[in-house]
Amino acid sequence: MSQVSFSEKPNALLSGRYGDLRPKAIEAILKRTPVAFVPWGALEWHCLHAPIGLDSAKSEGICLAIAEKTGGVVLPAIPLGVNTIKPFKGFAHSIDISAELASKVAEEICIQLADEEFEIVILMTGHYPPEQIAALEEGVRRARNVATHTHFEVWADNQLMGDHFVGDHAGATETSFQMLFSPDTIDLSVLPDRKLSLDGDGVMGDDPREASPERGQRQLEVVLQIAIPKVNALLADRKRLQ
Ligand SMILES: [Zn+2]
Repeated sequence: MSQVSFSEKPNALLSGRYGDLRPKAIEAILKRTPVAFVPWGALEWHCLHAPIGLDSAKSEGICLAIAEKTGGVVLPAIPLGVNTIKPFKGFAHSIDISAELASKVAEEICIQLADEEFEIVILMTGHYPPEQIAALEEGVRRARNVATHTHFEVWADNQLMGDHFVGDHAGATETSFQMLFSPDTIDLSVLPDRKLSLDGDGVMGDDPREASPERGQRQLEVVLQIAIPKVNALLADRKRLQ
């Protein structure tokens, strides 16, 4: 992550964690690349080996990596998961949020970021059941009615991996991202010595014991290859309209 400094070349990309930035740094980013990434996460059971905040850490890590290559700010991850694995399969250590609340938060954050003169706002969700995506889309739809000069999008990391990797839940893909972004929070040694299942363990996808930080890095490279041109195209569109 580049530190925002006024000695940098005029065309240097500037990015940062929104909450860590002082006003002049935010103004410099707004002038060059008025893009805000809003990582969206959850607090949800991710089997015994992974922390409940995995979706938040994953979406924040991905957003920071994209912003470093495109410019823009990254908000703190919002841990409001709709239809978590608690109502779905009964797993504890999960804070389940209504679609109404998630939509309302998305709507207000989007409107506020537009009011702060961000022209492109991307909600990036690391928790992606259809109910979550629909709730964020609904919030964005309402924000579009109010903030007509800002472009809003809802993305999910599992849609940014092409055919290379499959989004999962606490499986090898998510565990690899977590090992890349927050390695100390994973402990594969606590897993039982048997095949893992959705009903018994809350794992969907390939076995998390196939995960590695190197695989996490390869996954991130795929996401960047797909996401960076999309952000740059949105920035180019914005310039054409000016
Ligand atoms: Zn997850």
